[in-house]
Amino acid sequence: MAKILVTGGAGYIGSHTCVELLNSGHEVVVLDNLSNSSEESLTRVKALTSKYLDFVEGDILDQQILDQIFAAHAVDAVIHFAGLKAVGESQQIPLAYFDNNIAGTISLAKAMERAGVFRLVFSSSATVYDEANISPLNEGMPTGMPSNNYGYTKLIAEQLLQKLAAADARWSIALLRYFNPVGAHKSGCMGEDPQGIPNNLMPYVTQVAVGRREKLAIFGNDYDTPDGTGVRDYIHVVDLANAHLCALNNRLKNSGCRAWNIGTGKGSSVLEVVKTFEQVNGIPVSYAFSPRREGDVATSFADNARAVAELGWQPKYSLEDMLADSWNWQKRNPNGYRK
Ligand code: NAD
Ligand code: UDP
Repeated sequence: MAKILVTGGAGYIGSHTCVELLNSGHEVVVLDNLSNSSEESLTRVKALTSKYLDFVEGDILDQQILDQIFAAHAVDAVIHFAGLKAVGESQQIPLAYFDNNIAGTISLAKAMERAGVFRLVFSSSATVYDEANISPLNEGMPTGMPSNNYGYTKLIAEQLLQKLAAADARWSIALLRYFNPVGAHKSGCMGEDPQGIPNNLMPYVTQVAVGRREKLAIFGNDYDTPDGTGVRDYIHVVDLANAHLCALNNRLKNSGCRAWNIGTGKGSSVLEVVKTFEQVNGIPVSYAFSPRREGDVATSFADNARAVAELGWQPKYSLEDMLADSWNWQKRNPNGYRK
């Protein structure tokens, strides 16, 4: 069993990963500045697992805090979720994105090097792939120049980490390229809790269903897809969390830097998501078609064969499970983690 530093562990994917880590017997230290989360998520992690975790409120850009954490804990590996993730916002305040996502990753790697900790699992994204690639996307395909600053920060962070591992064989780094994380813990106690108007499809759908928003705008129904709406690879957040444990095990045995797609390999259209949500949960979702969103591609889904073969990971949950679990979380917590 290992001791894992989880940056951004109070967030959506981080908190679900903490549950899986603790349930597998690992020890967890979370570093999070709570800029996009609340400590309540960690209270629920502890309640669900009946396990203890250490929480440090602080920033990955703060070298002193990082040094203190590594001095106080015998950390074996780091899972690095901390960062900003809103595509639209990244166009308005690029420096905040460069700082948190690029400088933050460098800051963390510097502190790890000082502490002699060289195993790292990094949250990357399918957005790093060149838009000209045709799905299913595999890790051998070229990366491109993402059309927004958020995607750009993920690409640069990936490249920095690749160069770091190439220069120094002590490093062992996993780049996990997530497709579209959705769903929530089966208990309904934990889930995605976006602040303000959701950017992503799933929290928008659940907020319309619960009556917090009037209508979903479906961005484009004239794409070259079976029903004209965008196709994405939705992956249950618990399957995604478990991919981190598999990547961690792989990194304990190997050096270098390697990328893995984390998706189901199955594409679903926006209309399919909405209709399946209505069927599975027996609740209507009001929607209207609106123009395409700038920067969106028609279709993106994963070839996940490398993760299945090399990590021994297998997604377990169907789209129906994802939509049932997202709704279970939303209806039990209409205002997310806020009272
Ligand atoms: P999230 O916002 O819920 O979690 C990120 C956490 O990091 C938050 O708790 C936030 O408070 C914390 N944080 C941000 N900047 C920090 C800093 N400088 N220092 C310390 N803590 C900081 O997001 P998420 O959906 O859980 O995403 C986790 C990671 O996965 C992010 O790096 C994100 O870019 C990446 N990712 C997410 C998606 C997605 O659709 N959710 C897709 C691909 C990649
Ligand atoms: N989408 C939509 N309405 C919304 C949000 C998203 O129609 O309010 C569509 C979007 O155009 C894309 C899919 O849903 O086809 C997934 O979008 P999301 O922002 O969740 O993830 P992305 O794949 O863009 O990272």
